[in-house]
Amino acid sequence: MPFKAYRYRFYPTPEQVQNLAQTFGCVRYVYNRSLRYRQDAWYERQENVSYLQSSALLTGWKKEPERLWLNEVSSVPLQQSLRHLQTGYSNFFKGRAKYPHFKKKDSPQSAEYTTSAFKWDGETLKIAKQAEPLDIRWSRRFTGKPTTVTVSKDAAGRYFVSLLVEEEIALLPVVNVTVGVDVGIKDVAVLSTGERTGNPRHTAKYAAKLAKAQKRLAKKQKGSNNRRKAKLKVARVHAKIADARRDFTHQLTTTLIRENQVICVENLAVKNMVKNPALAKAISDSNWGELVRQLEYKAGWYGRTVVSIDRWFPSSKRCACCGHTVAKLDLSVRQWTCPECDTELDRDVNAALNIKAAGLAVLACGETVNPVLAKAGIGSSR
Ligand SMILES: [Zn+2]
Repeated sequence: MPFKAYRYRFYPTPEQVQNLAQTFGCVRYVYNRSLRYRQDAWYERQENVSYLQSSALLTGWKKEPERLWLNEVSSVPLQQSLRHLQTGYSNFFKGRAKYPHFKKKDSPQSAEYTTSAFKWDGETLKIAKQAEPLDIRWSRRFTGKPTTVTVSKDAAGRYFVSLLVEEEIALLPVVNVTVGVDVGIKDVAVLSTGERTGNPRHTAKYAAKLAKAQKRLAKKQKGSNNRRKAKLKVARVHAKIADARRDFTHQLTTTLIRENQVICVENLAVKNMVKNPALAKAISDSNWGELVRQLEYKAGWYGRTVVSIDRWFPSSKRCACCGHTVAKLDLSVRQWTCPECDTELDRDVNAALNIKAAGLAVLACGETVNPVLAKAGIGSSR
């Protein structure tokens, strides 16, 4: 059965605020101390510390007279934070992520609970060391059994709970439609059907608000209460931008998955492109990486296929009509006429058509199409 993640906002009682602050603090402490230990072990003795070793160390830390407070919170999130650090290291060694960094007090906080540390009775959710169930705003229901619960507080001070639920998901009825998707900036996506999504440019929409909040923050004295409040205001604007971006991407990917059996999309090295400062904001607004990630896991849920096309495929410069490829096509050229067959081409729709054709070719060759399907099912849904 696939796993599906559900995320809800909740409103903690004063006791829960207290317990969570303490838990987040302990999680941060254990994570950071373990990271420091592993770093030192490597630089000083070229020694690689395993998860089991760091787990044994934690047992020792909890016995230190000045660290007895580590025993006041559930031990599960502490253990989980060591697991996360381990994952961080293996991702780093496999070249998939940067070196793990220290957790800061003012960045988003989280604590992960596995089955032994929470109770779900089908209606309410109670986590270890808390007397009351969480006051959750159930925006949508789920049917399966939660296996992991993550409680988090974002920089804007909002509390969320994410449940990883093992759940039977009904496949969507098969439709005989294939689509090519060209991602871009003017439109987040242009489809081979000629449809354009537009780009809501969330950052620009909130730019004035953000500038105002940042200006206020800059004037506040360091360490003052007013500065803390001003900082929270800035974080709230950022949270609004992130929410709007996420909603847009979810709607788009859900529609694409619902309406198409096969979705062909370019495989993007988004991170490298975001380094271009002139385009960075527009590209983060377009949320390309997240778009592809969502397409892939939703395809896994609903029995659709996502075909990733190598990003060096000349999708823009090739005429989708006759296959003629021009040597150069400046980024500013939005419309062009194929010198070979005289077809009038829209740059993005033409690219989407080429992506579709390439995707169908990949499928016809029977290559391994979607390795992500294998580990499918894990993603968030709202
Ligand atoms: Zn042509």
